[in-house]
Amino acid sequence: MTEEQAPGDSLVDMLIVGAGPSGLYAAYYAGFRGFSVAIMDSLPELGGQVSALYPEKLIFDVAGFPAIKGQDLVDALAEQAASAAPTYLLGHRGEELTVAGDEVHVRTHRGALVRAKTVLITGGIGTFTPRPLPDAEAYENHGLVYFVPHLDDLADLDILIVGGGDSAFDWAVSLEDRARSVTLVHRRTAFRAHQGTVDKVLASSVRVLTPFEVARIHGNHQVEAVDVFHNVTQERERLEVQAVVAALGFTADLGPFTRWGLEQRKRHILVDSAMRTNLPRVFAAGDIVDYDGKVKLISVGFGEAATAVNNAAVVIDPAAHVFPGHSSSVG
Ligand SMILES: Cc1cc2nc3c(=O)[nH]c(=O)nc-3n(C[C@H](O)[C@H](O)[C@H](O)COP(=O)(O)OP(=O)(O)OC[C@H]3O[C@@H](n4cnc5c(N)ncnc54)[C@H](O)[C@@H]3O)c2cc1C
Repeated sequence: MTEEQAPGDSLVDMLIVGAGPSGLYAAYYAGFRGFSVAIMDSLPELGGQVSALYPEKLIFDVAGFPAIKGQDLVDALAEQAASAAPTYLLGHRGEELTVAGDEVHVRTHRGALVRAKTVLITGGIGTFTPRPLPDAEAYENHGLVYFVPHLDDLADLDILIVGGGDSAFDWAVSLEDRARSVTLVHRRTAFRAHQGTVDKVLASSVRVLTPFEVARIHGNHQVEAVDVFHNVTQERERLEVQAVVAALGFTADLGPFTRWGLEQRKRHILVDSAMRTNLPRVFAAGDIVDYDGKVKLISVGFGEAATAVNNAAVVIDPAAHVFPGHSSSVG
């Protein structure tokens, strides 16, 4: 889901800031409670850390799934959330939050204003930005990518992966059988990735060059080749590739949340057992929250999202009950 839909001037029952697993599940739940819902994320894609950092990895500890690929979990969450017909604002970072009487107003960095009766913050570790490949800006989305949300976009290409961590090696494993060729360069000889994955890549057709760095990208508005160099001997090589996947890590920034007047502990938002923050009408759930005994896991975020939405229900509609009834009794 990359489409952006403007919320207009209408007042939504709940605005969810953060479309990771917690936010997507909360959207479903808000729909189940009969509420109108908007979801905002600074990233262009749904799924938070799962889509951005490990879409191809298997997850073993989500209840009901003995093993599920990260992106498959996100796709299923998005399908489940669709029943709430959410308004998506992707590529919008929530920048300012103001409680104005019975409404909460959130303005995004692109100037959109969302008016909501309640806000649920599911901002995870904050907005994360890929560490850029130096001097390569002109090729961003013209062959150079920092995320690979759809592996098939790179099918049958010659691909250069830059990096020596888990993401770089995960991409190498998942792209090897789709790409025409995969080369991985890393500026050190040691890797920071899971040894099992490193061994798998080293035993595969992927060409691994260390200690190599990118010198220059060539191409007329589109990546056509990349010069790489051995950073000890200075030996240079030209790689004919059409795609570069830069997996140099991310920086996470809580940024805006720290300026919204929310009570915090160790850069997390403090909540009570109903997932209420110190601000009226503002709830929080998932990795972003803290309370005694907090555990940062997808399954815990799901539970917190349900708790938050059901407690927000009585704020949205004072005649409502916190307990929603059983979904199995509906339909
Ligand atoms: C490599 C790796 C492997 C993992 N494996 C597992 C596992 O096996 N099992 C497990 O349970 N957990 C695992 N986790 C942890 C799991 O991914 C997190 O617990 C989960 O993603 C938290 O979900 P969330 O929705 O709370 O936050 P996130 O997934 O972090 O999503 C938050 C979203 O909020 C957005 N956002 C932040 N600030 C703003 C803003 N101001 N405006 C708009 N949008 C904003 C971000 O862009 C992001 O999309 C793993 C994590 C990593 C990094």
